[in-house]
Amino acid sequence: MKSADSLIDVAQIDSTQIDDIYAEVGQWHVNVGEQKIHPKRMPGRWRSVKWWTSSVWLLFFLGPYLHWGDRQAVLFDLPAQKFYLFGLTVLVQDLWILAMILLFFAILLAVVTALAGRVFCGYFCFQTVWTDVFVLIEEWLEGKPRQRQQLDEAPWSLTKLRIKAIKHGLWLLIGLLTGVSFVAWFMDAGELWQGMLALSLPLEATITIGAFVFGTYSLAGFMREQTCMWLCPYSRIQGVMVDQDTVLPAYDAVRGESRGRRKKGQSDDHLGDCIDCNLCVAVCPTGIDIRDGQQQGCITCGLCIDACDSVMEKIGRPKGLVRYDSLNGLLGKTQARWFKRPRVWVYFGILAFSVVGGAWGLATLDGLELKVIHHRQPMFVMQSDGSIQNRYQLKLLNKTDQPLEAKITVTGAAGLKAVGVSEPVLLAPSGVTAHEVFVRIPAKWLVSDSQQIAFSVSTSLEEINATRKAVFIGPAPSSNTP
Ligand code: SF4
Ligand code: SF4
Repeated sequence: MKSADSLIDVAQIDSTQIDDIYAEVGQWHVNVGEQKIHPKRMPGRWRSVKWWTSSVWLLFFLGPYLHWGDRQAVLFDLPAQKFYLFGLTVLVQDLWILAMILLFFAILLAVVTALAGRVFCGYFCFQTVWTDVFVLIEEWLEGKPRQRQQLDEAPWSLTKLRIKAIKHGLWLLIGLLTGVSFVAWFMDAGELWQGMLALSLPLEATITIGAFVFGTYSLAGFMREQTCMWLCPYSRIQGVMVDQDTVLPAYDAVRGESRGRRKKGQSDDHLGDCIDCNLCVAVCPTGIDIRDGQQQGCITCGLCIDACDSVMEKIGRPKGLVRYDSLNGLLGKTQARWFKRPRVWVYFGILAFSVVGGAWGLATLDGLELKVIHHRQPMFVMQSDGSIQNRYQLKLLNKTDQPLEAKITVTGAAGLKAVGVSEPVLLAPSGVTAHEVFVRIPAKWLVSDSQQIAFSVSTSLEEINATRKAVFIGPAPSSNTP
């Protein structure tokens, strides 16, 4: 069905333009995985957006070479169980902060999906971005989709061998760069390159790089859209995150049907705006036909919108036959604003929790952690001078990456003396230093058989210090008071 004002006035259309469109893409049909998809590339608004969003991956390749002071700015040093984030050193004790950051990104994905479907897949996902680059290389070397199909079907020759060898060589090179860049986030990038050039890389790094070369080459070079359709779990769970107000690429069937090909000089008043040229299918990287409705294979890249807009422009019809719209929008119903949708509020609530939690964690990340362990065997010792002695082990975790001098003081009772605190303690960088302290309180000054004292540690860096309360154990005061 179509609205009256959407009828195409055939007399207004330059029929040679329609013939051009059919000649160019008339051979296309929906590919359901039985054959390799050679998507047509064409310029357009969403294609440009995709290039811009894809370029965030440059950070993945260049990030490891960014330095902060004398160290890599972001380094996940797994063997040392330390994570360097610019000036911060996050030790395993503070891993919950990284968990908050991961939670933030997971929920951000859910929010974006609820609002705009699989927009992450179409514009940011490494699988679709890498595949796009692989296809671009394929097009540079093998030509347009039809030429690529013909080359695939042609018998082997020296020319075909040369083209295919260069293509696969470039694909493998990208896979290698991907693997090296990934490992460079986990070991010093300079050492990594030195190790590679000297063929002396650690086994773990070699295996990881090899896995990335294989994974990138096979997933972006061969599996391509099949990964999005059958392997990616996100494509499976997206269905529960979208609703009738989620904005997705959609075909306006009311305006487009009945679809049909235009013939030169033939009046087609009964037809809608869709001229059944299949250009929207030809450009689709997953080979689906958006006119069949929303499908699991749609990665929301918007390339079919660019394609159809170019067709509408040629035939003099308004753009937007395929457009980003919600189901309610397509049906002409009032669309719920995003802030009136409960699920979006739930997602935002979790998002806010992860932001506040992560920010609080980073803001309160101490450079020093102090634990005080009271020795319990014996609980206390009566000294010959009449004082009561307790023994403590202090565990000082220096979270900075520089050695610190720590001065320990103990307070909390009249006449208190601490043994083992006269000299500063040297704290190794990013590690735990254990130190024993004996605390003595004259028996006459004991106010309880269990009273509170406090250990304070100040360091050579003024802002790095810590205080912990502890319990001093002694006999009941009444029996000790002289
Ligand atoms: S929806 Fe647009 S691009 Fe797709 S077949 Fe119809 S006219 Fe062509
Ligand atoms: S149907 Fe359109 S938006 Fe969906 S994957 Fe294909 S080209 Fe991209």
